[in-house]
Amino acid sequence: MLLTRRRDRGSWWSETVHEWALAEAIVKYVGEIVRSRGGSRVKSLVVKLGALQSIDREVLEFALREASKIENIDIEELRFEVEQPLLRCRRCGYEWKLDMDSVPQDLAEAIHFVPEVVHSFFKCPRCGSRDFAVVRGRGLSVERVEVV
Ligand SMILES: [Zn+2]
Repeated sequence: MLLTRRRDRGSWWSETVHEWALAEAIVKYVGEIVRSRGGSRVKSLVVKLGALQSIDREVLEFALREASKIENIDIEELRFEVEQPLLRCRRCGYEWKLDMDSVPQDLAEAIHFVPEVVHSFFKCPRCGSRDFAVVRGRGLSVERVEVV
C-alpha cells in the first residue's frame, strides 16, 4: 500500500526537511552497524513505517539513497514495510487493529497527512469511546540491516 500526499495542502519544504533529517539519522545508524560488524556494505535494509505517520515514502527513499552516497555506505536493497495501526481504548482497555487497506482513499490520505484525525473517524468497537491510544503504527524504525 502506498499513500500519496497532495502537495498543495501543506508546506512541501518543511515536510521534505523532515524526511531528510530522518534519512540522515537512519544512514548514520546503519553506518555504525556496518562498522561494528566489520562489513563493507549493506545487502538489505528494511525500514518499517507506521501507517499512521506523515512521512512521504518516495521522498524518504530518495533521501536515503542520497544520504547513503554522502556517508559512503552502499545499500543494495532498500525495502519498506507498513505497520498496521493497533489502537487501545482508554475507557475499556479493548485493543483493535485498524486495517488501513479497508479505509476509504480520501480518509486514508487525510490520516496520512494529519495522523491525529484518526480520533475523529474511529471509535472503540466495544464501548464506542473515541478516547483511544495508538499503541502501534506510528513513526518509523529500522527493522532489519543485513551487512556483508
Ligand atoms: Zn472501549
